[in-house]
Amino acid sequence: SSTINKIAAGEVVERPAAVVKELVENSLDASAGRIIVEIVNSGKEYIRITDDGHGIDPQDVESAFLRHATSKISEVEDLEKINSLGFRGEALASIVAVSKLDIITKTAYCQTGLKLSYEFGRLKSKDEVAAAEGTTIIVKDIFQNVPARKKFLKSDRAELVSISDIIDKIAIGHSNVKFEYTSNGKRMLSTPGDGKMLSAIRAVHGKDVMSSLIELEHECPGCTVSGYISSNSAYRSSRSCQYFFVNGRSVRSDMLSDCIQTAYRELLPIGKHAMCFINIDIRPDMVDVNIHPTKLEVKFTNEESLSACLKEGIGRALKGKEL
Ligand code: ADP
Ligand code: MG
Repeated sequence: SSTINKIAAGEVVERPAAVVKELVENSLDASAGRIIVEIVNSGKEYIRITDDGHGIDPQDVESAFLRHATSKISEVEDLEKINSLGFRGEALASIVAVSKLDIITKTAYCQTGLKLSYEFGRLKSKDEVAAAEGTTIIVKDIFQNVPARKKFLKSDRAELVSISDIIDKIAIGHSNVKFEYTSNGKRMLSTPGDGKMLSAIRAVHGKDVMSSLIELEHECPGCTVSGYISSNSAYRSSRSCQYFFVNGRSVRSDMLSDCIQTAYRELLPIGKHAMCFINIDIRPDMVDVNIHPTKLEVKFTNEESLSACLKEGIGRALKGKEL
């Protein structure tokens, strides 16, 4: 029933930032090289995501909005080796249930695109339209049909900060993709998409942080850690300046933050949380990303070996710098 859909929707998309995250991840899964994010009033009024990815086949568009209609996993065993960011097939179904949503999509081998308009889960129109290859999704008036949830949205400012934070993280984690992000028409971020993590970090944090970053690169069995870590305490550090990407997915992890803290404690008096941008490429069977619907948190099968690898890598990077 639609009530069940609304309740379930709340778990996956509890706020505009979660909508942005899910849609951008879908664009990444569609191999987009360029992703444009436009929001109005912190996403509460309007969110538009445009990508140049592979689009959706005309015969699959409607089913993409049905729960568990993911195209990304065909076998249960696939869950073990998930490479795509999405895999539950819940995001579009959840978002469409609580908003007015338009989708325009076109694949490479179709002459024309297709535009579908939904209102709170109901399909209102479906037309052929001229469109570039890729997908655009517009989400308006989120939670208008779920007043209880709307009431619990944070202030415009807090929602905007969350959205910006998510886009910053994803943009740094996917430096090969060009991101453009505007809020109320104002440019918030534009990354070059040149494949260099450092370029994306610069676009997000400005050129001043660059001089304090040193490169990290360390390999252990089943796992490689790479990225950039802070080499001085001049730059204000907080946990929100710690970026972790596990197989390309931006994650939060107390275990990883603690690990950084201990690694630094002996080597560099840098305050509580050193700024860092760390990619962890790990064998899919050594990590479980499925522990929370929003997929922000991960669990590692062998925390000790990962933390040892990370500490050793940081130690080497800091020593190599001859501080
Ligand atoms: P999931 O990402 O878990 O598969 P979603 O509900 O997020 O589930 O998306 C459902 C399906 O819609 C995806 O599996 C994909 O086939 C299709 N899809 C969604 N967004 C895009 C996009 N931007 N480009 C191409 N296909 C998309
Ligand atoms: Mg998805």
